[in-house]
Amino acid sequence: MDATPNVLVTRAVPGVLDVPGASVRVLGEAMPDRRAVLDAMPGVDVLVSMFTDRVDDELLDAAGGTLRGVCQYAVGTDNIDLDACTRRGVVVCNTPDAVTEGTADLAWALLLAVTRRVVEADAYARSAAYPANGPLGMGDFLGADLTGRTLLIVGAGRIGRAVALRSIGWGMRVLYTARSRKWDMELAPLAARRVELDEGLAMADVVSLHTPLTPQTRHLIDARRLGLMKPGAILINTARGPVVDEVALADALRDGTIWGAGLDVFEREPVIHPGLLQARNVVLTPHIGSAERRYREMMTAMVADNARAILDGHEPPNRVA
Ligand code: NAP
Repeated sequence: MDATPNVLVTRAVPGVLDVPGASVRVLGEAMPDRRAVLDAMPGVDVLVSMFTDRVDDELLDAAGGTLRGVCQYAVGTDNIDLDACTRRGVVVCNTPDAVTEGTADLAWALLLAVTRRVVEADAYARSAAYPANGPLGMGDFLGADLTGRTLLIVGAGRIGRAVALRSIGWGMRVLYTARSRKWDMELAPLAARRVELDEGLAMADVVSLHTPLTPQTRHLIDARRLGLMKPGAILINTARGPVVDEVALADALRDGTIWGAGLDVFEREPVIHPGLLQARNVVLTPHIGSAERRYREMMTAMVADNARAILDGHEPPNRVA
């Protein structure tokens, strides 16, 4: 019998996913359907999963008892039934840190795009209307400014802090929420203040979401909380779609309850609520938070290290369960 351990990767990733001594099978470039993943599971020792894979009892059982670890190619693990893994003695790992800077950059890209109406202006610059109408008037395409404004970080962990650090260039006042107190937020250079969520929402000009998706954070931002925000406020979501009630957000944008939003994640990806697709004051990206070559190659290397450790019976560096 071949004793070479099997690593199954559900979708191609950038860089080299090399696990010495193991056979690595990549299912394909495109997102595999559920059936293809289930059919490939028998005899797998380590599964490398994407956030789009539902890792549940059915998938774990499909391995037929050989599975030792799930290495998630993401930091969020909301697609994985951690209890089901633990019950079977299956170790779960993720890729923290590697995604931090890229996702923080994207949060700022969305924020600047919303405040300065970049997407709308780009469409206008390409249109026949620009040469036809001539140079803009001084009152056209006016945006919002960020200097000295108040930024609320909801979920001040790795990415939340990286987003806050980028605000120093605009002299922003930083507020934060988290389950525990964060000294690295409160000390220099951020000197941020911890607030209750409702209190912070009422004070902030920019609200940026960075919690994981958990039962406690599902629809954390709902109609009531959107109603607490300032009419000029901007909501940025690079966390997970269901942290925001999309129907309530579409209503809030249409009614002018808040000024704008920048969204990288959605409740039912890849489907986006029509009210958000139609809104002028929203910038949308298709879940590209960590989509930067160097960071993705780091994620690949992390996944390989975790898989190797699991196969060697060692404690993996990025274990979450
Ligand atoms: P992290 O370091 O674990 O930070 C998460 C923060 O959320 C922690 O400060 C935690 O507080 C806080 N938190 C948890 N539950 C909360 C609650 N109920 N209310 C308020 N705060 C709560 O995670 P990270 O590396 O920054 O990543 C954050 C999330 O970003 C991931 O889980 C993932 O879903 C998302 N993400 C998205 C993309 C993308 O492509 N758009 C890329 C990477 C990550 P405590 O520390 O006190 O527990």
